[in-house]
Amino acid sequence: MRKLLIIISCITLLATTLTGCGTYDKTEKKIPDSPPSQKVEVSPVPEEPSEPEIPEIDLEIIRPNELGKVMVLMYHEVGQKEDTWARTADNFRKDMETLYAMNYRPVNLNDFLDGNINIPAGTTPFILTFDDGTAGQFRFIEEEGSMTIDPNCAVGILLAMSEKYSDFKPAGTFYIFYPLPFRQKNHIEEKLKLLVDWGFEIGNHTYGHENLGKVSPAEAIRSLARHVNATNAILQGYQVNTLALPYGARPKDDSYLIKGEWETIKYENRAILLVGANPALSPFDTRFDPFRLPRVRADETELSRWLDYFEKNPDQRYVSDGDPDIITVPEHNSNNINQSALDGKTLRTY
Ligand SMILES: [Zn+2]
Repeated sequence: MRKLLIIISCITLLATTLTGCGTYDKTEKKIPDSPPSQKVEVSPVPEEPSEPEIPEIDLEIIRPNELGKVMVLMYHEVGQKEDTWARTADNFRKDMETLYAMNYRPVNLNDFLDGNINIPAGTTPFILTFDDGTAGQFRFIEEEGSMTIDPNCAVGILLAMSEKYSDFKPAGTFYIFYPLPFRQKNHIEEKLKLLVDWGFEIGNHTYGHENLGKVSPAEAIRSLARHVNATNAILQGYQVNTLALPYGARPKDDSYLIKGEWETIKYENRAILLVGANPALSPFDTRFDPFRLPRVRADETELSRWLDYFEKNPDQRYVSDGDPDIITVPEHNSNNINQSALDGKTLRTY
């Protein structure tokens, strides 16, 4: 256990330097302004624009397909029992090991939406989402008089994975609700801050797990804004910008799910996550719709089913070329490329 504590401290240190979330206000870590330099050096302008360097990878062996599908995995409880909405800690650990062994690597939802998928060549991204802020997702336990992270909670397991494998980065979005995310009232602030420092994300799941298909639009807007208000009371300046629908319930008129305001508190979501039931399209696909993003329920049946599906249909699977600035797609598969989603990236077909 001491080892885990040390590991976690190391990861904290590492994560605070690596965290990819630029929206969280970390004023204490701000780099002081450098004094104005006396001499301004102007680098020579090249006469012709240089071609972007394309790294040498054997396309025929790696077979990248960055227009392939991606699993957004949905977990709820992680703990003692196993059922449709609960995974035991051992099975959750097994899921992560299986995914890793089958060349899947976790990426954050916001990086996926931005098309910044930075994983090794030949691997496939997957996105972790955790609904409801249940106790087994992130728990502190007391050991020898001090509080430590439960090695059998989801966060403990993910941190251990990232310690074990250098290309398994801590990533995942926690769709919490209030007033008691993770069900330990003395540690709410600490947990949210740690999660963001490590590189995880916090998402909107309404303030009190309201059913948005049943409450009035005014009540729904209030609930979405109150979540943002409560999260920002702990994480000043953090942008809560994705929404997982409680119960998967979507109102008929759903325009306010994307953007709204209640008592000067504004919210804006760039993705809305559904409860079911298949892998998502690539963000570079013309048909990609972030406001109806499907998820795969990560239980024994559904996760196995989709892992098998991609084994049998490897051409359907997103396979990275290892360079986030180059988007590589097999020639025969390139008609659904969304040029505007490339956003300055180089398109390569083969
Ligand atoms: Zn929920």
